[in-house]
Amino acid sequence: MARQDEGLVIGIDLGTTYSCVAVWEEQHCRVEIIHNDQGNKTTPSFVAFTDHQRLIGDAAKNQAATNPANTVFDGKRLIGRKYSDPVIKDDLMFWPFKVIAGADDKPMIIIKHKGQEKHISAEEISATVLTKMRETAEAYLESPIKNAVVTVPAYFNDSQRQATKDAGTIAGLNVVKIINEPTAAALAYGLEKRANCVGERNIFVFDLGGGTFDVSLLTIKGEIFEVKATAGDTHLGGEDIDNRMVNYFVKELKRKNKVNITGNARALRRLRTVCERAKRTLSFAIDTTIEVDAIFESIDLCSSITRARFEELNMDLFKKCMETVERCLNDSKMDKNSIHDVVLIGGSSRIPKVQQLLQDFFSGKELCKGINPDEAVAHGAAVQAALLNKGIKNVPNLVLLDVTPLSLGISVKGGLMSVVIPRNTTIPSKKIDTYLTSEDNQTSVLIEVYEGERKRASDNNLLGLFNLNGIPSAPAGHPLNVCFDLDANGILNVSAEEETTGIKNGITVTNDNGRLSSEQIMRLIQEAEKHRAEDRMYEKKVEAMNALDDYVYKLRNAIKDIDRSSKLRLQDKSKIRVAVTKARNLLGTSDQTETEVFEDYLNEMEGIVESIVKID
Ligand code: AMP
Repeated sequence: MARQDEGLVIGIDLGTTYSCVAVWEEQHCRVEIIHNDQGNKTTPSFVAFTDHQRLIGDAAKNQAATNPANTVFDGKRLIGRKYSDPVIKDDLMFWPFKVIAGADDKPMIIIKHKGQEKHISAEEISATVLTKMRETAEAYLESPIKNAVVTVPAYFNDSQRQATKDAGTIAGLNVVKIINEPTAAALAYGLEKRANCVGERNIFVFDLGGGTFDVSLLTIKGEIFEVKATAGDTHLGGEDIDNRMVNYFVKELKRKNKVNITGNARALRRLRTVCERAKRTLSFAIDTTIEVDAIFESIDLCSSITRARFEELNMDLFKKCMETVERCLNDSKMDKNSIHDVVLIGGSSRIPKVQQLLQDFFSGKELCKGINPDEAVAHGAAVQAALLNKGIKNVPNLVLLDVTPLSLGISVKGGLMSVVIPRNTTIPSKKIDTYLTSEDNQTSVLIEVYEGERKRASDNNLLGLFNLNGIPSAPAGHPLNVCFDLDANGILNVSAEEETTGIKNGITVTNDNGRLSSEQIMRLIQEAEKHRAEDRMYEKKVEAMNALDDYVYKLRNAIKDIDRSSKLRLQDKSKIRVAVTKARNLLGTSDQTETEVFEDYLNEMEGIVESIVKID
C-alpha cells in the first residue's frame, strides 16, 4: 500500500555533473540518500535525445560518446545566464552540443529528437533532471512527491536562483526553499557533530564540485546555525580541471600525430571521459595512462600523465580557490586560527594538491573528510526539508541564518553603485538609506536596483527598476528614503518614499529579465508531461518487442531440440518457420509498428505454436 507522504518535502542537490536526492526518515531520525534505478546514489545531470526516446542520468551519460551532439549536460552552467555572458563563450568550445542566442539573449540548446530539430532552454534540462530525482524519491517512498528543497551554489545570483525555481515548477515540484550548497553541507556536518560540540564552533566549508566552487564560514551555537560569510565562483570546478587535461592531450596529438581533433565531437567526448577517469586516478596514484583506441581515423591515443604534470596544468585554478578562501575569511573578519573544522565537500575536493594548499592555508590543520563529499549537500537539503516539514525531534528549535551572497544597491549619480545591503549580511534584513535628488525641481526619480560587487552599477546585474513620481519641486539635494527589505528566501522588496508628501512606490524583485514567462512555464510543464507519457509509451513498446524477441529465441532453441529427435511433422515445422520469419520481419520494422501489434502477434504466435508444441 502507498505511504501517506504526499506533504513530505525531499532534499535535492541539483549538481552540474551529478545530482543526488535525500529524505529525512522520521522513524529512524536520520537522512536516507536514495538510490536511483541503477542502484547509484548520485545520478549524472545528463539528458540525451535519440531518434526514439529521451534518456536521463546514467542512461544518457553512457551513450554520450556515440551521440555527442544530442547529449546535454552542464545545464547548471547555462541556467539564468545570458548567451552573451563571457563565461558561456568559453564553455561553447568544449560543448559537443550546439547553443545559440534565443529571444532576449537567452541561451538555447539545439538538439535533434525523433528526427526533428528542437530548441531547449537550460531550465528544461534542469527540469528533466529534477523530474528524474523526484521519480527516484517517489519509487523509494512509494508515494507522490510535490515539495522539495533544492540547493544552489552560494554564489548564484538572483536570476540563476529564480531560473532554478522555474525548473522545479516545470518538473512538477513546489520548490519550498532554495538553500546554498555549503550551508546545506554545514547543516549535515553540524548536525552530526553537534552532540560533542560545547560552546561555539566555527566551521569552514570548502565545496569544490563539478562546475562550481563555494566556501562558507558558519558558526554553530546550540541550535543556531549562522552563516557568517560566503564566497565562490559559479564557474570553477572539476570540468574546468578536465578541460585542462583534454587540451593537453589535444596538443600532444597535434604534436606527435599531426592531427587536430578539436572539431570532432565524438573524439573529444571520448577523450574527456578518459581524462576525467585519469584525474580521479591521480587523486591516489602518482601517474596514470590514457588510452583511446582509434581516437581519430586509425590513430590510437596511448599516453600517460603524472600527478606533478596534472598539478602544473591546474595550478592557477587551485590558487584561485585559495584566493576565494581568503576573501571569505576577510569578509567574516575572523582569524583563520579561530576555525575549528575545515570541512571538504564536492567531488573535486578529493584532489590531493587542493587539500594540501588548503591545509597549508590553515597552518597545517587536519581537514575533516569524514562526511561523504558527494552526498553532504543532499543530506543537508533533506535536513532543511525536514525542518520545514514537521521539524526534527532531537533539535526542535534549530534555526538556520543565511547571508546574502552579493551586495544589493541602487545606481546613483554618475552611474555608480551605492550599496544598501552589503554582501554577507544575515538575512532576513531590512535597511533604509536616504538619498538626495541630483537636479533642481526634480519631480521624478528612477530607482534602478542592482546586485553585484562592481563599482559601476551597469557592470552589475540589474534586478529591476521603478519610478517615484510626484516629488514636490525643490532645489537639488531633496531627501528621499529608499528601503531594501530582503526576506529569508532572498526575495527582495525595494521601496522609495518622499516623507513630506508620503508619496511612495516600490517593486518586489521577481527578475523577469531573461526569465521564462508564466505562459512559457505552463507550456513546458505540458511538454514535460508529454515527454513523460512518450517515455512510458516507448518503454512499453520496448517491453513488447523484447517479449516477442524472447519468445522467438526460446522457440528456436526448443525447435532445434525437437528437430533432433524428429518429433515434428513437416507441415508443423513449416508453420513455425513462417511464424518465426513473420516475427523477425515485424521486429525489423520497430519504428513504424505500434506496441499493440507486437503484443497481438505474440498472442497469435503463442496460439499457433502451442497447438503444435509445448514451450516453457
Ligand atoms: P560534485 O559536483 O560534487 O558531484 O563533484 C563532481 C566532480 O568531482 C566531477 O568533476 C568529478 O570528476 C570530480 N571527482 C569525483 N571524484 C574525484 C576524485 N577522486 N578526484 C578528483 N576529482 C573527483
